[in-house]
Amino acid sequence: MDCELISAIVLLCAVAGLSAYLFLLRKRYYDHETGFMAMIESSSEGIIVVDRSGIISFASPSVHNLLGYEPHTIVGRSFLDSVVSDNRESVEKLFARAVNSRERKFTTDLKILNSSGQCREISVHCSNYLHAKAIRGFVINIQDITEQIIIEETLKKNDRKYRSLYDNAMVGLLTTDLETGLVIAANDLGFHAFGYDSKYDFIGSSILDHYSDIQCRDALIDELKKKGEVHKKEILFRRKDGSVFWGEISSKISMDKGTIESVLIDVTKSKEAEEHVYQLTFYDPLTGLPNRDMFQNRIQTEILKSQRIALLCIGIDKFKNINDMYGSWIGDSLLKIMAKKLKKVYFNKDMVARFAGDEFIVLLSEIGHRDDTLKLDIIDKIVQKTNFLFSEPVNIDGNEIEVTSSIGIALYPDDGTRAPELMKNCETAMYTAKERGRNTSCYYDAKLNRKMMDRLKVEKDLRKAIGKSEFIAHYQPKVDGDGAIIGMESLIRWNCPEREGLVPPFEFIPLAEKNGMIINIGNIILRKSCEENMLLQKLGFEPKCVAVNLSPYQFSQPDLIDNIKLVIRETGLDPRWLELEITESGIMKNERESIRKLSELSEFGIRISIDDFGTGYSSLSKLKLYPIHTLKIDKSFVDDLPGDPLSATIAVSIIDLAHNLGFKVVAEGVETQEQLEFLKENRCDQFQGYLFYKPLCFEDFKKSLGTSSAK
Ligand code: C2E
Ligand code: CA
Ligand code: CA
Repeated sequence: MDCELISAIVLLCAVAGLSAYLFLLRKRYYDHETGFMAMIESSSEGIIVVDRSGIISFASPSVHNLLGYEPHTIVGRSFLDSVVSDNRESVEKLFARAVNSRERKFTTDLKILNSSGQCREISVHCSNYLHAKAIRGFVINIQDITEQIIIEETLKKNDRKYRSLYDNAMVGLLTTDLETGLVIAANDLGFHAFGYDSKYDFIGSSILDHYSDIQCRDALIDELKKKGEVHKKEILFRRKDGSVFWGEISSKISMDKGTIESVLIDVTKSKEAEEHVYQLTFYDPLTGLPNRDMFQNRIQTEILKSQRIALLCIGIDKFKNINDMYGSWIGDSLLKIMAKKLKKVYFNKDMVARFAGDEFIVLLSEIGHRDDTLKLDIIDKIVQKTNFLFSEPVNIDGNEIEVTSSIGIALYPDDGTRAPELMKNCETAMYTAKERGRNTSCYYDAKLNRKMMDRLKVEKDLRKAIGKSEFIAHYQPKVDGDGAIIGMESLIRWNCPEREGLVPPFEFIPLAEKNGMIINIGNIILRKSCEENMLLQKLGFEPKCVAVNLSPYQFSQPDLIDNIKLVIRETGLDPRWLELEITESGIMKNERESIRKLSELSEFGIRISIDDFGTGYSSLSKLKLYPIHTLKIDKSFVDDLPGDPLSATIAVSIIDLAHNLGFKVVAEGVETQEQLEFLKENRCDQFQGYLFYKPLCFEDFKKSLGTSSAK
């Protein structure tokens, strides 16, 4: 090949290559342009290109959808032509500013007229385009926002409507924070209900502070948190100024917002009306006390609880005379005063009601389970208190009026099992009391009546006996294994002139323990025992220890130690010749205090003995904490010795235990030789019982001291 041909081929190839390259380049450009055009055509936004003076040089196809114009028909026209005249000036300014300040982009909303002359709201985003660093024009993206604005306005209108509905609703509406209870929103009735003048004072305060009853509030919130909502709960709320109102509240938790939405209605007025009707139905208008119906319902409720109850029917004696003498106004006032007094004297759990004209009725509740033995002493005490209440003269309008009452008592279940029957029976008992001469009381049950009368009589006589030193001490010797007297127990007897013989302690000690007279009686017998023991020593008898019984009630007195020390000082007895017998129940109740008292007595030199040991429930391990010298095995364990294996085991265990703890053991109520043999065999230290001596009067005891060494 020659050189020219080769250069022609090379040139051809170069031209062909260049053409191919150019072809590819153009194709890529066309591909780009068609892609770009397709993008513009499919866009829902209208795109308009304008020059610096606003003359349109390009309009995308969607401009037709937005403005109604065919795109080519607006090319060459000013963009401002389609802007409504009101907006035109501001748009012009915007463009001018964009040109002058070289703003890259700006956005505005404006109104334009479409091809049919309709006004449309459009949102306009303008970006400038540059040529040789100078602004040549703008690319304007147009979006029709007419519908959106209509929707927004409708929403705003609705919101305003809703706001006004919310604020002016006929119920209180509240939104509170679920966790903190702080008020987030409230309508007018909502904040007014709580006594606020301004919503803004109320918002931010804690709703939790507005509940009048904290327990009730916590229960409501618990229920709300458990169920997510509560309906129509009646709650007593507290206003800002501290006054209260009844609100009916329904609440719902909104978990996603972390709030509680509540509807509140002030129901104070309807509650008051309800209360008024309730008052009229169940309360006596004169005295304000519950009436018969309410009382009857209450009895039924108590009966359902299987509790013993007592009803007292209290009749004012000779009320008719008072009415006749002073007039019914004074009569009414008297009833009101007595109602007030009665209400004060009973416990809250009891109920006092107006029964009839001059009769009141009282329900004493919870006086034991219906199967328990009857606690008559409680009832007697209350009856006495009631009688006393009536014994004080009442002054009405300058008139000193003396009143007495007759009281009838009926018991459930003893005197009836249904309310009307019980009420009738206690009224009958009240009439019996009136027949008996008034100013007295009477049980519906005749047997109980007798008991009550006896008890009242004993109590009266006992009170007199204290002042007259009618109490004497008998002494029962305690002996050792050889029968020698090593001490004595002082046992009280009442030498009552109105009763035959000496009254044994079980007939009056329990009563004296209940009415508190045991303190005086106990002091009398302690002093007497110390004096007589001293006397024996003065008479030349070998000194012996006298054991005096202390009732648990006496032991619990705060001035016990001072009293005992005083008696010791005044009688001159050496404390080591005095022993105090106390039952387990007496010292186990108030452990710390008991140990303190016993330690002080023991340090003073007085011996301590635990009486009736084995009948209480004292924990054996606790015994070692107490400064005790002697345990007395109760008679009930001695009675069946030696035949009964259980009694034998108990007696032997007590002896072992006592010895292990360093105590002496006394067996009480030893009556037979066999009992004695068994106890001696098992190392019991001392004995007391009819086998040796019965309790003896002072003179006989003195004699026995002289002969004891012979036994
Ligand atoms: P207690 O302290 O357990 O007194 C023992 C009781 O058993 C005495 O009855 C005594 O007479 C009786 N007794 C003694 N040995 C025998 C026996 O072998 N066979 C039988 N069957 N009985 C025997 P008493 O004197 O009737 O006293 C009864 C309870 O009255 C005493 O029981 C004591 O708890 C209380 N008591 C007696 N005097 C006083 C006192 O001054 N103050 C206090 N608070 N209570 C006293
Ligand atoms: Ca005793
Ligand atoms: Ca005893």
